[in-house]
Amino acid sequence: MDFDVTIVGAGPGGSAAAYYLSKFGHKVLFVDKRRFPRDKACGDGISPRAVGILKDMGLLPEIEGKFKRTRGVRIFATKGGCMEANWPPVKKYPHYGFIIPRMELDDILRRHAIRAGAEFWDNCLVIEPLLENGKVTGVRAKRNGQHLKIYSSFVIAADGAHSRVGRILRLLKRKRRSIGVAIRAYYQGMEDDDFMEIYGEDCILPAFGWIFPAGNGIANVGVGTLIDDVKKHQLNLSQVLSNFIHNSTHARKKLTKAVPLDSPKGDVLRLGWEASEVVTNGALLVGDAASLVNPFTGEGVTYALESGKLAADVIDEALSSGDATALFKYKDLIRRRYGFYFRMGTIFVKWISKPPLMNLGIGLASKNQKLAQFSLRVLANLL
Ligand SMILES: Cc1cc2nc3c(=O)[nH]c(=O)nc-3n(C[C@H](O)[C@H](O)[C@H](O)COP(=O)(O)OP(=O)(O)OC[C@H]3O[C@@H](n4cnc5c(N)ncnc54)[C@H](O)[C@@H]3O)c2cc1C
Repeated sequence: MDFDVTIVGAGPGGSAAAYYLSKFGHKVLFVDKRRFPRDKACGDGISPRAVGILKDMGLLPEIEGKFKRTRGVRIFATKGGCMEANWPPVKKYPHYGFIIPRMELDDILRRHAIRAGAEFWDNCLVIEPLLENGKVTGVRAKRNGQHLKIYSSFVIAADGAHSRVGRILRLLKRKRRSIGVAIRAYYQGMEDDDFMEIYGEDCILPAFGWIFPAGNGIANVGVGTLIDDVKKHQLNLSQVLSNFIHNSTHARKKLTKAVPLDSPKGDVLRLGWEASEVVTNGALLVGDAASLVNPFTGEGVTYALESGKLAADVIDEALSSGDATALFKYKDLIRRRYGFYFRMGTIFVKWISKPPLMNLGIGLASKNQKLAQFSLRVLANLL
């Protein structure tokens, strides 16, 4: 074997797995097809739960003071009601979040994994997993024009929502109801704010919009919806983003002086766990590849980091005990940690996308702080 573990993808999921496995003393290679630092379409919203795991990784000193802290969330109903809540004081997690551009966050995580001892190859496209007698034994890749075979005891697919490794291993399911799509762009000339804002607006329904303040007058502005709705209503998401910026009733007030800094960038979101199997003989899926995106909010960084750690734990057990079947505990760990919550989220999304219900819910929460706090606890999985 060349390595104990090969990890495909150096987003939050891959880098977290590489960090923890290296800390456990294993020989780890993580690769990415892109050169770093690289951008990734994202709202850049880092919830308190994600801050919790960044803290566990020892990364807070590198982040504190450098990026915009958030105090909570505002959610606007299409009829103008607004629910505002501070991040709730939960013992287990810090009660603040951040906005961290992915160009920077992913590079911080990648460098942290390298410091912990992992070997990293950029510009390395994984073409397929290698299989022997039904077990994944490594990957075939292309780097700087050269074809390589990399052998390892285990493989982690952290290759994002389009996971080539997951697709070839037939672990991705076709659950259209579970696929979201979103785009975002950076704008300057914004008023600074400590709250992440989410908007229901008549002119963009069934999509929703967001304005996440990144500090220094810059904000990450985006829109998202389910892929089924894009097809049903023939939506062009760039047009929807433009409508949000120019024609919305409530968000427009904040966006009058907004000047775009780049062109919109988008991607799909595999929501709620049900769209992927997460384990097979010799390989695990983490993060977006494993469909670990919160259906309530579209938040995925937390779950990429957490599943990277869980994957590292079970692989550490398998390598230490010599029992490769330990890997299959991963599915159970994921189900126990997220199964019920993600299932509730999938049901919630179906109902909340109906404007009268959304308006009623936000209307009630806007008049009752306790209800607003509780709602935010549920939405951000801080229960
Ligand atoms: C518009 C939008 C807004 C979002 N907003 C938020 C938000 O505000 N907060 C939040 O928490 N989440 C948000 N998400 C979700 C979040 O971006 C993802 O859940 C998160 O990036 C998942 O991390 P990951 O490590 O699993 O995958 P990724 O971050 O996608 O990383 C996968 C990596 O694998 C590499 N790769 C892919 N294929 C190969 C291959 N064959 N060989 C080698 N390398 C490969 C890619 O280059 C990439 O670097 C948003 C998503 C979108 C699309």
